[in-house]
Amino acid sequence: MNKHLLASAGAAALLAAAPASGTENPLLAPWTGPHGGVPAFDQVRVEQFQPALEAAMAEQLAEVDAIAAQAAAPTFDNTIAALEHVGKTLDRVGTYYGVFASTMSSPEFQAVEREMAPKLAAFADKIFQNEKLFARIAAVYETRETLALTPVQQRLVWLDHTRFVRAGAKLDAAAKTRLSEINQELAGLYTKFSQNVLADEEGYVLVLESEADLAGLPDSLRSAAAAAAASRGHAGKWAILNTRSSMEPFLTYADRRDLREKVWTTYYSRGDNGDVHDNNATISAILGLRAERAQLLGYATHAHWRLENTMAKTPERAMELMEAVWKPAVARVGEEVADMQAIADAEAAASGTATIAIAPWDYRYYAEKVRKAKYDLDENEVKPYLQLDKLREGMFWVAGELFGFEFRPVTGVPVVHPDVRVWEVTDRASGKHVGLWYFDPYARKGKRSGAWMNAYRTQERFAGEVTTIVSNNSNFVQGKAGEPILVSWTDAETMFHEFGHALHGLNSNVDYPSLAGTAVFRDYVEFPSQLLEHWLPTREVLERFALHHQTGEPIPAALVAKIEQAETFNQGFQAVEYLASALVDMKLHLAGATPIDPDEFERETLAALGMPSEIVMRHRTPQFGHVFSGDGYSAGYYSYLWSDTLTADAFEAFTEAGGPYDKTVAKRLRDHVFSVGNTIDPADGYRAFRGKDPGIAALMRKRGFPLPSAESSRSN
Ligand SMILES: [Zn+2]
Repeated sequence: MNKHLLASAGAAALLAAAPASGTENPLLAPWTGPHGGVPAFDQVRVEQFQPALEAAMAEQLAEVDAIAAQAAAPTFDNTIAALEHVGKTLDRVGTYYGVFASTMSSPEFQAVEREMAPKLAAFADKIFQNEKLFARIAAVYETRETLALTPVQQRLVWLDHTRFVRAGAKLDAAAKTRLSEINQELAGLYTKFSQNVLADEEGYVLVLESEADLAGLPDSLRSAAAAAAASRGHAGKWAILNTRSSMEPFLTYADRRDLREKVWTTYYSRGDNGDVHDNNATISAILGLRAERAQLLGYATHAHWRLENTMAKTPERAMELMEAVWKPAVARVGEEVADMQAIADAEAAASGTATIAIAPWDYRYYAEKVRKAKYDLDENEVKPYLQLDKLREGMFWVAGELFGFEFRPVTGVPVVHPDVRVWEVTDRASGKHVGLWYFDPYARKGKRSGAWMNAYRTQERFAGEVTTIVSNNSNFVQGKAGEPILVSWTDAETMFHEFGHALHGLNSNVDYPSLAGTAVFRDYVEFPSQLLEHWLPTREVLERFALHHQTGEPIPAALVAKIEQAETFNQGFQAVEYLASALVDMKLHLAGATPIDPDEFERETLAALGMPSEIVMRHRTPQFGHVFSGDGYSAGYYSYLWSDTLTADAFEAFTEAGGPYDKTVAKRLRDHVFSVGNTIDPADGYRAFRGKDPGIAALMRKRGFPLPSAESSRSN
């Protein structure tokens, strides 16, 4: 569905489908092997991308022109369904391109991206602005009630029509030209933004010279830092990478306050260093163009345009939810800081040193101490039980219990890097092939930080049975050879989260490719993934898979009990760092055509919100990839909270029944949520699963916040 390529056109799912043949560029070749084949990652060379993309775009334009130019009157089959077939070659090239952009970036590849981003945007506009094609879509749309269509086909017609209209299909010629210019310019700016952030992540590595600098760090972090230094030509020293996976544990454990401040400052200054990789001017330009585009399309602001096809529907409803959680979250931060300050003061008194005021680089460090004091829970005590490989087996086991999946490692499948491993997924009951799951777990040069899922191929049965290929990616720091990788509790949650996206793809059971898997509304897509996080802390998983890396003993029940008790710990911090980002994102895109200085806007918005001084936005504006590396999550970072409202409410369906592994509830979850893709309205799907609409109460309970006095059920 060209998901990698058309994100900037704000309309990904349409342009899909029909193998090209007889070409020498391996990126264009159909995939070979069983079950529809696999990507030939072993044959990719960077210089093949541009010719492959050009050829695949030309092929798709020809396919689209053929549909548009038909003499026969427009029908569902010859227009809407026919569009589901187009672009298969570009889909395949796009898979390679997306994987390289996110995990194998290099100066040579980045040059290709800079060249191709505007061309890909222009290509998308050529399709959306094809007048003959739109006239056919509109004709089917206008007569849809009179056609003998299934509800899913009706929805597909509506989605296609909406997508074209939202992309400017109804504009006059001059406006269309300007729109296309804007999209191309934005595509170039998004590429620049991402490359700048990557440059700052790779360009600022803190190399520590002496063992004393590591005070407080547990052994696992020391050996990871040693390995990171060695692989960067600093054998015998220790390197702290400028990524979240390295920054967070360092700030949690490092006793050296000066080094904590340094690591914190470096991380939160990405894209904001006033140098050649500074993103502020790029952001101003992006915001200006987005505002202009929204007006051109007839919307008050970019936020209004983006929210139209979401569950929330309007920025106001998204803001309402964020504001309902903001106040209790800030109040909780006040309590958390007071607890931390008391410990810092006691330490100062005991050691006869000057007292400190909790600063942002102290938060994780003292929060950890509070966790120990309040819950007798030490993250270091938990970590030896969290082995990456065992947790992965735990995820497989959960997928087996909930969805009947079986995972078996396969070898001989081409991968983009030797770190990547592949599993075949089958249905346990029938033995039928379900799909493939690729896992790319480790940080490396050229790979962006964070964790994510993507689909190399989506499920469909429109043009014969096509099974999906999905991947999970993360940035764990590899330790010494042969040593198990130990991960933090947060990282373990993230693994389950991304695996939830993968299961959303793997469960897909639909006809049309543009409606498959995770191609749902932006503020619904995080629901399945966040829901899966809830299975990590279940006793069934912890007792079987949280095994000590040396003794093989399962995590003690007493420690599990402590983890359960501490579940709502530090929720003030987590909610505030997230909400600050989500609120700034929305306000930036509600500001309309006013020219914006990002640093100043961020500062003033946070001040007006009453942002606690001890916390910083989870993603500061100059590094906010969700929002500025594409249209994807722009005016959409609120989606995580929106989805989490559903998540919290949905998990209560399990606890109200027989528990997390209740088969009846799991079946309803699969039937109405995980398998349906975008074939039904998500609000209807949710209601069919849950028997009611979600309210905010479960969310507040999950986070340990007080319930609002008049809790009312939101009707989504
Ligand atoms: Zn997610």
